[in-house]
Parts: sequence; C-alpha cells; structure tokens
Amino acid sequence: MSTQVVSLKEHIPHRAIASQKEIGHIVIEDVEIIFGKGAEANQAVKKTSLDITPGEFVCILGPSGCGKSTLLNSIAGYVTPSSGSVAVDGTPVTGPGPDRGMVFQQYSLFPWKNIRDNIAFGPKVAGRTNVECSSIANTFLEMVGLSKFADKYPAELSGGMQQRVGIARALANYPSVLLMDEPFGALDAQTRLMMQENLLSLWSEFGITVVFVTNDVDEAIFLADRVLIMSASPGSIIDDLHISLPRPRDPAMATSADFMAYKKICLDQIRSESLRAFEQQNR
Ligand code: ADP
Ligand code: MG
Repeated sequence: MSTQVVSLKEHIPHRAIASQKEIGHIVIEDVEIIFGKGAEANQAVKKTSLDITPGEFVCILGPSGCGKSTLLNSIAGYVTPSSGSVAVDGTPVTGPGPDRGMVFQQYSLFPWKNIRDNIAFGPKVAGRTNVECSSIANTFLEMVGLSKFADKYPAELSGGMQQRVGIARALANYPSVLLMDEPFGALDAQTRLMMQENLLSLWSEFGITVVFVTNDVDEAIFLADRVLIMSASPGSIIDDLHISLPRPRDPAMATSADFMAYKKICLDQIRSESLRAFEQQNR
C-alpha cells in the first residue's frame, strides 16, 4: 500500500513537513478526570503526566474501560480534565481545534457528502477557496489511494476505505497531531494489517505526532515508538515502553525475538491488570 503514498512535500505547508520537528509537542500535567459528582462520581483517569515529543508515534494500550478514550479526548478537547492541564505546542487545550485531527473507530463521515467533499469539509470551514479545497481534497485522496472514488458516497465504500477517508479528512486540516481512537477496531484482520502499514507510510511522510489508542498488543508494538500501558480503571500509565524495532516496520517483524519480548511485557502487565480489575469488581 505504500506505493499509493505520493510525495507531499510540495503540497503541505512548511509547518507540517517531517523535518519540522518542533510541532506536535503534547504535554499532559497532573491530569485527573472524574465524571459525575458526589456519590455518582466515577474517576476515569488517575493523576497522569505525560510528555509526547513532536513526531512521535505513541500507542496507548489498555483493557476496555480503563480510560484510554477519556485520556485521548482530553487531548482532543472533548473532555475537560477535573484537574491538571493539557497543552499542545505550549497552547493550553480548551476545546477541539483543527490543530488536532481525530479519527474514531466509527468512520463518522458525512453520509450525504461524497468522498471529495468529506475531505474538503475542514479546509472549507477554515475559509479556503473552492480551488484550494479541491486541490487539497485531490492530494489527500491520492495519498490514501482513493482518487478513483472521489465521487462516491461513504455507504458505497468498504469499512477500510471509509477509514482511509477518515484519516485523509483529519490530515486535510494539516493538524499538528493526529489522535486515533481504535481506528481499525471494526476492520477484519487482513484489512487491519494493510491499514497499519498504510498509516505508517503516511506518518513517515508527514512527520506528524500520532497518539493511537488500541487494546491490541500486536498493533501497538507494530506501530509505536512508545507504548503506554494503562492500568485497569481508574486508568493511569503503569508502563512507558520504548519500542526500538527498526523502521520501516515490516509485518514479518511480528515473529522476531524482540517483538515477542515486547509482547510478553505487555501481555504480562495487561493480564495482571485485568485480574486486579476482576477481583475489584467481585469483591
Ligand atoms: P476505554 O476507552 O479505555 O474503553 P473510556 O475512556 O471510554 O475507556 O471510559 C473510562 C471510564 O469512564 C468508564 O468507566 C466509562 O464508563 C467512563 N466514562 C467515559 N466517558 C464518560 C462520560 N462521558 N460520562 C460518564 N462516564 C464516562
Ligand atoms: Mg475507548
């Protein structure tokens, strides 16, 4: 799939090119997230601090319900922390913004717009001219290998294709960071592997910071520079694992001794966390 990725250097504004490593710096300081009040209060994320370097590919890995989406949403600006702060490139996050592209598990495209208009939506809202919107849409359509489908509607595309549109749509705003919440969770295994490789190609071309939430250990290790393992609810980061597998990553690496060693660390942590959560629930 990497052959579908065209060179973006001439299309992407200066600030978003891979060599511009100073953008996409995420700093989370003492963030705690509690939903509800009083007897109803539910602590979703325990006090957490995190520093994500520009251009880094970070995976947040943890059991279902541990607070991965909540933590990601605090970077996206959909959730306001109960205490602590989140900043991207020194600017405090106070709500969603085009500097942070988001891709969800559900494709969340506009069903009444064709693929080209879905991708052009962000640039249009940002006040770009029709000519610019069209040029940006074409660039990103080509980038995700969907130029031929520009005039189709989301319902006419497979799940994998829709998710490629979702990624293109997020990137078309030239964000500093790309936030992805189990984006490939609804796809079949084969499509998922292809999407992972495609995403890595885009990431290496784009040089963008990616924070990618998953509950799949193999996916996290295959993609990431860093895997942050979260505890069972209320979530906190219990391990920050640096993945030093060479790049470009190759699916064949999944059988290497190094990959297996990382996998064992992740699985052991998740297993003990799941057991702890199970015991808590049944106490
Ligand atoms: P994960 O993404 O790891 O599966 P979530 O971040 O979705 O976990 O949820 C963490 C906890 O926060 C869960 O107990 C969930 O029920 C709760 N939660 C998430 N979003 C909300 C919300 N908007 N209102 C109340 N509780 C929420
Ligand atoms: Mg979630």
